[in-house]
Amino acid sequence: MDRSLSELEAIVRNKICKVCTSRDVNGECGLEDPTTCALFGLFPQVARAVQRVKSDDIRDYIDAIREDVCSVCAQRAADGSCETREQVQCALDAYLLLVVEAIEEATLKKFYRKGLGAMGGGPLVHPRREARL
Ligand code: SF4
Ligand code: SF4
Repeated sequence: MDRSLSELEAIVRNKICKVCTSRDVNGECGLEDPTTCALFGLFPQVARAVQRVKSDDIRDYIDAIREDVCSVCAQRAADGSCETREQVQCALDAYLLLVVEAIEEATLKKFYRKGLGAMGGGPLVHPRREARL
């Protein structure tokens, strides 16, 4: 199903922001500068990365995010490391599986959880550490 970028962003915001630990008591983004949220600050790149992958393995999505999003993210260090990710402060990294599911549900694309090991059958908010960005 074709969705506009703004429709997709609204769907993903509705799913992710309400579970995000950076939300404040009023339900608003609690970041000092909400535009620094990599998930929505780079949402066009995120949506493209997820939609270009045709795989049932989350690691392929992680690779795509790393190539298409982290590569242009201001928070990534020159050596490819990311302090924000290490501190579990990147909503894209922290909620990657939910982001992929939301985008694929919205576009009627089926995503299976291969590659997630024991976490594959349970409620998921974070991929395994070794499967992170
Ligand atoms: S950090 Fe990002 S995902 Fe979390 S509440 Fe703010 S805008 Fe939403
Ligand atoms: S993991 Fe780091 S470099 Fe990648 S999108 Fe998140 S903040 Fe940016």
